[in-house]
Amino acid sequence: MINAYDVIVVGGGPAGMIAAGTAGKFKKSVILLERNNVLGVKLRITGNGRCNLTNKMPLNRFQDYYVDNPKFLHNAFNKFFNTDLIEFFERLGVKTKVENNGRVFPISDQSADIIQALQLYLQNNKVKVSCRSLVTDIIVENNQVAGVKLAEGENLKAEKVIIATGGKSYPELGSNGSAYSWALKTGHNIIQPRPGLSGIQIKESWVKALQGISLNQIGISLFVNAKKKKQITADLVFAHYGISGPGAFDLSADVGDCLVKGSVGLYLDLLPCISESQGMEKLDDIIAKSPGCMGKNLAFNQIPKKLIAVCLDLAGINATKPLSQLSKKEKRCLINIFKQVQLTVQSLRPLKEAMITRGGISVKQINPATMESRIVNGLYFCGEAIDISGLSGGFNLQAAFSTGYLAGIAVANS
Ligand SMILES: Cc1cc2nc3c(=O)[nH]c(=O)nc-3n(C[C@H](O)[C@H](O)[C@H](O)COP(=O)(O)OP(=O)(O)OC[C@H]3O[C@@H](n4cnc5c(N)ncnc54)[C@H](O)[C@@H]3O)c2cc1C
Repeated sequence: MINAYDVIVVGGGPAGMIAAGTAGKFKKSVILLERNNVLGVKLRITGNGRCNLTNKMPLNRFQDYYVDNPKFLHNAFNKFFNTDLIEFFERLGVKTKVENNGRVFPISDQSADIIQALQLYLQNNKVKVSCRSLVTDIIVENNQVAGVKLAEGENLKAEKVIIATGGKSYPELGSNGSAYSWALKTGHNIIQPRPGLSGIQIKESWVKALQGISLNQIGISLFVNAKKKKQITADLVFAHYGISGPGAFDLSADVGDCLVKGSVGLYLDLLPCISESQGMEKLDDIIAKSPGCMGKNLAFNQIPKKLIAVCLDLAGINATKPLSQLSKKEKRCLINIFKQVQLTVQSLRPLKEAMITRGGISVKQINPATMESRIVNGLYFCGEAIDISGLSGGFNLQAAFSTGYLAGIAVANS
């Protein structure tokens, strides 16, 4: 068995790269093992290739944006928060910008710049990077980590091992939940991995015709067994299976949790800024100005034409009927539908398509001040492999960077 390093980091995503570089910075000899040909494969596609690396939200509100175990992240954020991350990248030559809802991106809009900066950090801190290195197991002797096993048959020895292998979504990018079995057999609990920030499968067949249409800042209400559970204002995109985009993603955790409790419905308010009676007035105005206009040609606020056609159909109104011939009841019915388009949830999309994995290695067996296992000495976990999950907006990458940084500091100081 080769024992050339103080620290082995498994997984070259954001959590693993920052953990390895930070341990190296504190003069530890570190090897970073990544199964892919290159580092940061998932990181490259984040934020549609632009990498929404964090969010400018202040610390006292940040934890509200985590669905699972926000308190566990308290120490990690105190040690290395959004401002630290932004400064970290500035020092490595990447300037950032803030977009709507506090989302932070590299000024170049290129996730490649973030990966390059992390590679520079690894290089500056003399981390040995070994790509095409698939780890198949960890070696533990008497509750002390002793190294890892590689697919080629070689064992690599070290007294500190940081697991940064990510979750289980988008497995073709390298993260396939491989660490769960290692954690399980060394006494850690695994919380059922399930889709997080996921598209939502809808029963109504008409959604298919709307594929690709996006809605900006609409109201979305979540109902469980006909009882209102939550309401948000967000952007939404129709997909062939149902709905996608930030609004769907941010509701998906609640939807997933609620599906086991009964029937789940979503109501879309396409006119969140006006009441029903204001909607009626507006429709009457439109009719007064162009009485011959047919339903199918109606232009109403920002509602896309194809969705208006669906709403007319749901209201039982013939699309070729002149609007001036609509009865009061028909008009009220149409506005009512604009205010609450009903969608019946079938399921979440499968985990492999979800943006993140909810569940994973239980936080109960991890020390939040160091990321070290409470069971196996010298074994550390960070990033999405752990049972932490955030909403969209840069929260998941910040969690990966903060927990990775903390693990890097902790191995160096122990
Ligand atoms: C399409 C998409 C867009 C996203 N956009 C954003 C965004 O804009 N902002 C945001 O905050 N979050 C975003 N996320 C989520 C974010 O990418 C993840 O939360 C983050 O990458 C997790 O970092 P990680 O280092 O823990 O894991 P990963 O990034 O998954 O890295 C883990 C690495 O470990 C390697 N590995 C796994 N098993 C082994 C093994 N056995 N041996 C060796 N190597 C192994 C993998 O190949 C991988 O490179 C997005 C996710 C997706 C899928």
